[in-house]
Amino acid sequence: STRPLYGRVAVITGASSGIGEASAEHLAMLGAKVAVLARRADRLEELAARIGKDGGTALAVAVDVTDAAAVQAAADLVEAQLGAADLLLNNAGVMLPAPVEELRADQWQRQIDLNISGLMNAIGAFTPQLVRAAQERGVADLINTSSSAAHNLYPTFAVYAGTKAFVTHLSKHLRMELGPKKVRVCAIEPGIVGTELQDHVTDAGANAWLEGSKDTVDWLLSDDIAQIVGFIASRPLRVNLPQVFIMPTAQT
Ligand code: NDP
Repeated sequence: STRPLYGRVAVITGASSGIGEASAEHLAMLGAKVAVLARRADRLEELAARIGKDGGTALAVAVDVTDAAAVQAAADLVEAQLGAADLLLNNAGVMLPAPVEELRADQWQRQIDLNISGLMNAIGAFTPQLVRAAQERGVADLINTSSSAAHNLYPTFAVYAGTKAFVTHLSKHLRMELGPKKVRVCAIEPGIVGTELQDHVTDAGANAWLEGSKDTVDWLLSDDIAQIVGFIASRPLRVNLPQVFIMPTAQT
């Protein structure tokens, strides 16, 4: 096959909607076998069936990535069914902006549990496979979904932005550790993308700000990010994109 990702095994967390779902479809189209992880089993099964119908190979694994033991079990299942993962798109995340004085400690914790601890659980469970695959196949990719919020200031986004600054900075350090082992580490940092991410926002002010931005900004589409992920993973082995910052043209 001439497809650029033929022979590769990609794991995508947060694959039941948005950026993860679009990326799973695109990586499969580029020839990778994909394992799709998230909590909603029905959505994952539909996605896997769609990929299968298009001639690809997809394994649906329902898992809550905040549960470290469950993520390890998922990693073992992926390796047994598809072989060692050589691409992890570490993408599951939640965004719950609200003024800090509202003291939504529950929402702070959800963002920290998923965007930081959930991300680390997947890194812990899949890094051994990435390193082994890099040794055997010569290359592997660890792609963490950060956000433009790691750099930019958005009103009432302090905790979310803090979790994404963690992802970006962590990725730089892991690149230093894993690059010599031929694991390419990348943080993708999108501006606003129209997905289900916005549906979970409960704060009225944050919702008004997000909605209002639609008047002037043509939001990115999930597939725009999927194309970037495919590009990153299909570069020649010597090429690593440590950070990819991608914005809607009119978003400031
Ligand atoms: P979505 O809400 O569409 O996707 C989030 C995904 O994460 C879903 O598949 C969801 O599936 C999954 N998820 C949520 N909680 C868990 C959990 N506990 N365990 C496993 N999976 C979980 O949003 P996006 O596609 O936009 O978000 C993907 C990533 O992109 C996030 O990290 C987000 O922060 C980041 N991002 C998004 C931007 C945007 O504007 N949309 C901009 C910059 C970054 P399920 O509920 O089935 O578990």
